[in-house]
Amino acid sequence: MEKAMTPRHPLEGEILYSADQILRGIEGLAKKLERQFGRGQEPVCLVGVMMGAFPFLCDLARALLTTGVPNVVTDHLFIESYVGTAPDGEPRIYRDLRMPITDRTVVLLEDIVDTGATLSCARAHLLAQHPRQLITCALLERRNANPNPPLDHRVFVIPSDAFVIGYGLDWNGQGREFDDISVINTDHARVMERFFSSPKEPASV
Ligand code: 5GP
Repeated sequence: MEKAMTPRHPLEGEILYSADQILRGIEGLAKKLERQFGRGQEPVCLVGVMMGAFPFLCDLARALLTTGVPNVVTDHLFIESYVGTAPDGEPRIYRDLRMPITDRTVVLLEDIVDTGATLSCARAHLLAQHPRQLITCALLERRNANPNPPLDHRVFVIPSDAFVIGYGLDWNGQGREFDDISVINTDHARVMERFFSSPKEPASV
């Protein structure tokens, strides 16, 4: 049954995609990827850009299994570039993959593509390890995003100006656990802001 599109947390504004819609979108992506992979027995490596792509990675791996792609291995690339709702300098990889991807089919998963800088950083990093094939996917792409080269697949396109939370996407560490994707409630975020902007106490020794 379709869930009500009602915010359950004060940080949630308008809900753009419910948990059911997200899962259906991911199942559609799994079917497209299954056709693209062909019928080989080689493992397919799913690489999620952390932390935001974590639920996307898990649900896509499950959907691929259901679709008939059993040989999936998962790994993570930790990249950081945002503080609050604004980018904070160049994307930086601070934890690398653990599995070798040379000569493998690799699917790179991003939570959201905004300027495309994070995607370019991750893509260049993976290509340097010479995968056989690199397929790029985002759960969300902003309407005005123009990544170069373009994404191979996106599940949803969202308005260009909405800062969104939920289903892995956070605001200052909050909201990753929400199962819907919503626009942030800026009134509540403004109230919460003071908890994140106060100077840190000097550490006592
Ligand atoms: P880009 O590098 O494409 O400009 O930005 C992509 C990264 O910025 C995403 O992986 C995500 O961490 C962050 N980001 C961009 N837009 C949003 C947003 O609306 N909500 C959240 N929570 N993160 C975002």
